[in-house]
Amino acid sequence: PVSGPFVNEPFTDFSLEENRVAMEAAIARAKASLGAEYPLRIGAERIYTAEKIVSVNPGRLGEVVGRVSKADRELAERAMQAALAGFETWKRVPARERAAVLFRAAALLRERKHDFSAAMLLESGKNYAEADADTAEAIDFLEFYAREMIRLSRINETMPLTQAPGETGELRYIPLGVGVVIPPWNFPLAICAGMTSAAVVSGNAVLLKPASATPVIAHKFAELMEEAGLPPGVINYVPGSGAEIGDYLTSHPKTRFVSFTGSKEVGLHISRLAAEAAPRQIWIKRLVAEMGGKDGIVVDETADLDAAAQAIVASAFGFQGQKCSAGSRAIVVEPVYDEIAAKVVALTKRLAVGLPERNCAIGPVIDEASYRRILAYIELGKEEGRLLAGGGPAEVGRAEGSRTEADSCDGYYIQPTVFADVDGKARLMQEEIFGPVLAIGKAKDWREAIALYNDTEFGLTGSFFSSDEGRIEEALETMHCGNLYVNRKCTGALVGAHPFGGFNLSGTDSKAGGHDYLLLFTQAKAIAVKK
Ligand code: GLU
Repeated sequence: PVSGPFVNEPFTDFSLEENRVAMEAAIARAKASLGAEYPLRIGAERIYTAEKIVSVNPGRLGEVVGRVSKADRELAERAMQAALAGFETWKRVPARERAAVLFRAAALLRERKHDFSAAMLLESGKNYAEADADTAEAIDFLEFYAREMIRLSRINETMPLTQAPGETGELRYIPLGVGVVIPPWNFPLAICAGMTSAAVVSGNAVLLKPASATPVIAHKFAELMEEAGLPPGVINYVPGSGAEIGDYLTSHPKTRFVSFTGSKEVGLHISRLAAEAAPRQIWIKRLVAEMGGKDGIVVDETADLDAAAQAIVASAFGFQGQKCSAGSRAIVVEPVYDEIAAKVVALTKRLAVGLPERNCAIGPVIDEASYRRILAYIELGKEEGRLLAGGGPAEVGRAEGSRTEADSCDGYYIQPTVFADVDGKARLMQEEIFGPVLAIGKAKDWREAIALYNDTEFGLTGSFFSSDEGRIEEALETMHCGNLYVNRKCTGALVGAHPFGGFNLSGTDSKAGGHDYLLLFTQAKAIAVKK
């Protein structure tokens, strides 16, 4: 049931009372299942293990979101066998039927939008708008990739091969096989759904190893796909440690592809493992990797300074800066440098830090390791730059106006932090922090600003703020990144509108939400039949 051209799922307007109330009700429902146990999903089996991943609300550490069964190597191998069996039947299901599963999943998700957002808010620390955008993007991926699979299955009608004399020629995009899908925790629904559904709608079977910080929402997604009609064995849900089962599955001779989103370090590790052919392996594994970023916003003196400052703050601090698209650098030309810095600081100081369920602008960071790493970067920033805002942990709880004792919370809260006068070579300008830390640097003119922007091993997102047509034209040419924006923030790519993926150490430039994406999960069989 394709219903017209793809359109993006609208975001919910939480300034409306009714929408806020609906979200609060969903949060209350989500809280009723705090602490629930979740099994592995291998073929048709639901397996509870003794060892568990305990998923905790990063905004209130006493709250256990779920206890998730954990696969060891033996169970990972069982999941591989289930996926191999699942693949044999799923690959023969016609493209339209595979797409229909995604359309049904999108419809179910739309009906239960706030429930998914609420579960995500508790597990990842997103506020209402960030969680809602994540759920909307998951719906978009399902709708988009379903249409894409139908489009690819009709490629011979729309882009026919040259017909050689005396032959009938056609091209078929066939699936690859069994893939390992390793999504990140920072878009725990959208990216998990996008990576998994693209592989599945293309006819592959997957081993879904969810991020250990957000396995509950990934479980809800796997369940949803089953409810939408996906047969057993096509998505096998196998949480576990990277070192134990991630490496095992990546190195497995029957693994045909690995689709990964996460840090540069883990991405390069997976790339090394996947490149090694195991004994009895009969293919080169395909790797789709979306890694980090050190994204930045360049502002020249002709720019709308208020708009630029707002974009800098939104890009730096949305979801606490935990996006690979996050604008963790701002590079500003000398004549407007002080003015931009002042505007950025004023906006930053207005951001309230607190519990996601109270819809504060800034929530917690994901876990203790992140918390410590980010605070160490903030200490380093005090040496590398001039501290303008924030600068350490944020006290959240009764002191911040909570109403009752029960409202007080502990969690991984960090103040949104701004440093100015940071040198282009400083670690704060070069390393991905993945937290609410913004480094501002000065350039003498817009060309030097672009050169500073380009001085990075990454190349994911960037923005250029200017009102000068000629400079904009040149920036489009010279700023080297996979997603370049002009006069807007560098986060918030929309499926279909902004195919998302970066250059250099940001990954394989696999454009999620774009027309090329499913080609990464298929191989083309060119057929010529003599008449
Ligand atoms: N697609 C998201 C954005 O444009 C970022 C995805 C990520 O952080 O992995 O903001």
